[in-house]
Amino acid sequence: MAKPKVAIYWNASCGGCEEAFVDLAEDILKVVKAVDIVLWPVAMDFKRTDVEALKDGELAVAFLNGAVRTSEQEDWAKLLRRKAVLVVAFGSCAHLGGVPGLANLHDRKSIFESSYGSLPSVDNTAGTVPQRTTRVPEGELELPEFYDTVYALDQVIDVDYYLPGCAPPPNLIMEAITAILSGKLPPKGSVLAPAKSLCDTCPRNETKPEKLEIARIKRPHETMLDPEKCFLAEGVICTGPATRSGCGERCINANMPCRGCFGPTEAVRDQGAKFLSALASIIATEDPAEMEKVAESIPDTTGLFYMYSLPSSLLTRKKTATK
Ligand code: SF4
Ligand code: SF4
Repeated sequence: MAKPKVAIYWNASCGGCEEAFVDLAEDILKVVKAVDIVLWPVAMDFKRTDVEALKDGELAVAFLNGAVRTSEQEDWAKLLRRKAVLVVAFGSCAHLGGVPGLANLHDRKSIFESSYGSLPSVDNTAGTVPQRTTRVPEGELELPEFYDTVYALDQVIDVDYYLPGCAPPPNLIMEAITAILSGKLPPKGSVLAPAKSLCDTCPRNETKPEKLEIARIKRPHETMLDPEKCFLAEGVICTGPATRSGCGERCINANMPCRGCFGPTEAVRDQGAKFLSALASIIATEDPAEMEKVAESIPDTTGLFYMYSLPSSLLTRKKTATK
């Protein structure tokens, strides 16, 4: 019997999600035995024409990682949506926009001005910036359109399931593949990870006082972090209260606070706003001036609270002169 066909594709991502498949270690042999991988640009030499030649719905599943920031990425997402029965948004960037989504604090014009102009390492006296088309003796070269806004995958195509994390851990990937192959899937739109918050599963939770109050926010390098104490109890920001569990407390176990890569829990619409409200409730002052001082001690509030989720948040992007 023919094996189910699977595609793995990357959009605006760092490549870490590709590594996550390799991190399956010997389990990857089970995957390869059970499915027929027909697209995986990082590892195998299939072409777009190979995918175009498939019948619509011929792929059992397409795992797409990365956010969508160019017209080429949008094209690929739409092509794979057409060819696949199931589309899984794989990893934080496809799920929520991820770290590339922080570019929504800028627009194309300012990104180009910085990347091809004002950065100290750039030598571009001619002021050349990428163009959609360039004429050369051999013909016309074409580049994809670079969008003003970075999108999460479900802002561009219909998504069936989400595998969260930067990157998703091997056990959740294997559970997702097993569920897909056995047809034992939760309702469409589910995030394939536990519903609890990270604080609920965190080994440091019992050191979090009943009434938590912090007078000053410290950055991780400004203090000796107790390897057993809740970060918030030490005055260090940890987004565990607003973040879904399932990562195996990876950062916590490395004595670093959570930054929210698993996204919000089911009950939360906007992860950054949820954490902001949780933080506001534990600042140990009623004095607005003191509160202001505490807020100012956080160097990059949006970058911290929306590190992985700005495009899919209620804010989506910063309003700029051109957007
Ligand atoms: S705030 Fe962070 S360290 Fe504290 S219990 Fe929650 S996840 Fe653990
Ligand atoms: S601790 Fe937080 S940031 Fe770290 S892997 Fe888990 S969910 Fe992601």
